[in-house]
Amino acid sequence: MRPARACIDLDALRHNYRLARELGGHKAIAVVKADAYGHGAVRCARALEPEADGFGVACIEEALELREAGIRAPILLLEGFFEADELALIDRHDLWCVVQAQWQIDAIERARLARPLNVWLKLDTGMHRLGLAPDEYRDCLRRLQALPQVAEIVTMTHFARADELDSARTAEQLATFRRVVAGQGPGGSELTASVANSPALLGWPATRAQFARPGLMLYGASPFANPHPEADRLRPVMTLESQIIAVRDLPAGEPVGYGARFVTERPTRVGVVAIGYADGYPQFAPNGTPVWIDGRPGQVIGRVSMDMLTVDLDGHPGAGMGSRVELWGKHVRASDLTERGATSAYRLLCGLKRVPRTYLGE
Ligand SMILES: *Cc1c(COP(=O)(O)O)cnc(C)c1O
Repeated sequence: MRPARACIDLDALRHNYRLARELGGHKAIAVVKADAYGHGAVRCARALEPEADGFGVACIEEALELREAGIRAPILLLEGFFEADELALIDRHDLWCVVQAQWQIDAIERARLARPLNVWLKLDTGMHRLGLAPDEYRDCLRRLQALPQVAEIVTMTHFARADELDSARTAEQLATFRRVVAGQGPGGSELTASVANSPALLGWPATRAQFARPGLMLYGASPFANPHPEADRLRPVMTLESQIIAVRDLPAGEPVGYGARFVTERPTRVGVVAIGYADGYPQFAPNGTPVWIDGRPGQVIGRVSMDMLTVDLDGHPGAGMGSRVELWGKHVRASDLTERGATSAYRLLCGLKRVPRTYLGE
């Protein structure tokens, strides 16, 4: 059998969820969209269900996958519905629903629901992707508050640049949010709010609100380019590893792999590892990208191919056929790869393909 596999540490996932809740100070919706960022949505949701305040997904298909697997916890549709007729399923499966545009309010107004819907009304505070503009938000809130189809309303927004710790933008977005939603509950009370994603939870304590929405940090990857005291408390959940399946002893001056991107400068032992870009490893990882070979640091040389890549075995005299190679995980952090411009930690994790997953801590 091909030795490539991704090992998913569910104890680390639980640790990271608890850290998210501790940093947020209140409840946390565990975001498990995109198959839990490549970790397996059903297995991750099952592991977190005893303690999670709810789960966040991108669409009804992802929500139904969790319900069909027996997940009973609240599930939030982070983009709401795409078509009005999804409301029947939202109603039947008791889903929470983001509302981000007026047409969605019109659809709720026309819908006949068995039970009133929990709505998360999204304000666009400057991300300019989804959400109502500040000058239409309160009118929309009034409309929803008057509808018998609506139960609780949570106010929410989303940050565009919370991973940039020196940007003023997050504080500006937060100030806009606070100004628009202040005192908009019944009788001038405050509504429940949700603002923080992973970088906000880790880096911007002022964004604390009743519901946090951690995604990336649950999986133990840092959203920041540099080391950060809170992000350093995360434990990586996924370890992607494979084995050396061939070894070459090359003299100086020999090219390795497609395009001869790497040419040996001295006699070099080259290990061929059974993992490639069809598994989600970044195709354009440069020479020198870190790996971990039999428990010691090593590096990629040559261009990554579809099913294989090559590593330098100099300095690894004991390594050879069958040696284990970690591509990312406990030793090589996802963020170590992204520093080299290859990709982002988000993309790295949710880009995993073909590799079977095994689970620890179930
Ligand atoms: C994906 C998503 C999140 C989680 O973001 P991370 O940066 O992965 O923590 C939170 N809120 C919304 C609306 C999202 O779409």
